Amino acid sequence: MKTAIEVLDAFDNIRRAQRAGVYAPHKPLLILLALARVQRGEPRLVEFEAIDAPLKQLLTEFGPSSAPKSRHYPFWHLATDGQGAPWDLSGPREVLKRPAGATPNLGELREHHIKAGFPVDIDEALRHIPGLLQAVASRMLETYFPATLHADIVATLGLDLDGANELREGATAALDYTTAARRKRDPGFRDRVLRAYEYRCCVCGFDLRIGHMPAGLEAAHIQWHHVGGPDIETNGLSLCALHHKLFDLGVFTVEPTQHRVVFSQHAVSGSRGIAGEMQFHGRAIHAPQHVDLLPAPEFLAWNTKNVFKTPARLVVEANATPRAAH
Ligand SMILES: [Zn+2]
Repeated sequence: MKTAIEVLDAFDNIRRAQRAGVYAPHKPLLILLALARVQRGEPRLVEFEAIDAPLKQLLTEFGPSSAPKSRHYPFWHLATDGQGAPWDLSGPREVLKRPAGATPNLGELREHHIKAGFPVDIDEALRHIPGLLQAVASRMLETYFPATLHADIVATLGLDLDGANELREGATAALDYTTAARRKRDPGFRDRVLRAYEYRCCVCGFDLRIGHMPAGLEAAHIQWHHVGGPDIETNGLSLCALHHKLFDLGVFTVEPTQHRVVFSQHAVSGSRGIAGEMQFHGRAIHAPQHVDLLPAPEFLAWNTKNVFKTPARLVVEANATPRAAH
């Protein structure tokens, strides 16, 4: 059985293999799904067929639009990541012996009943060391997803993260892992972004205060901070809590020329009247105080490519007049 430190290190290796600025939720979501199975006491190995539906649902909800189509890649590639990979494949020899590039397609994984799961020594550690499973799950969330989505992912998986503090052995390593994975956040980012947009949601204009303090208003990163997005105004949007979450889910993005809010075709609102969410589609955001503070095209491009759920709804040009800041 591996020690807690060895297990944390094995999962950290996946992060090291990822290129900066590239956001791929496949592997972390598969790992989180597998952790939830272990927590429920299910067998170590599982056939692709048995997790296909929940994996597809997770990638549809929390990944970009292209993600569900390639959902079988991590099931295969997590094991071929290199020495000490925290993933184990089982199936007919002629399939498992394939060269690295020859990934089986969805049909082949089903047909050959390919199974996968954590290797025995990691699986045992996750089941027996108190707090280790929760610590690995927490690291996965912190390393790969913005905080706005953590609770939703955990709820979708039915994961219970209570007990992460029980991890004594390897606690220091767990802490190091977190520190290394997380870039320091600039505490002034929120203030600067909210000020730039004059303390209101740049989509809906929400500007509630409790006394002098803005309430329910957040500074969103356009390119996510944990994927290399900088803490600068041109990478920020002032959003109410609802629009922050919808933005991080890829429900809408902002296009780079006239800064119009563009909703995804996947987003469907029941109320199509003036109160409905779609009233914001095609409208320019409330502009920041100064043109120098407008969202930068490179960050908007990152968001559209990595987070936004394409295809976009059609923008009718008549709505294109940008709204003034005042
Ligand atoms: Zn809003």
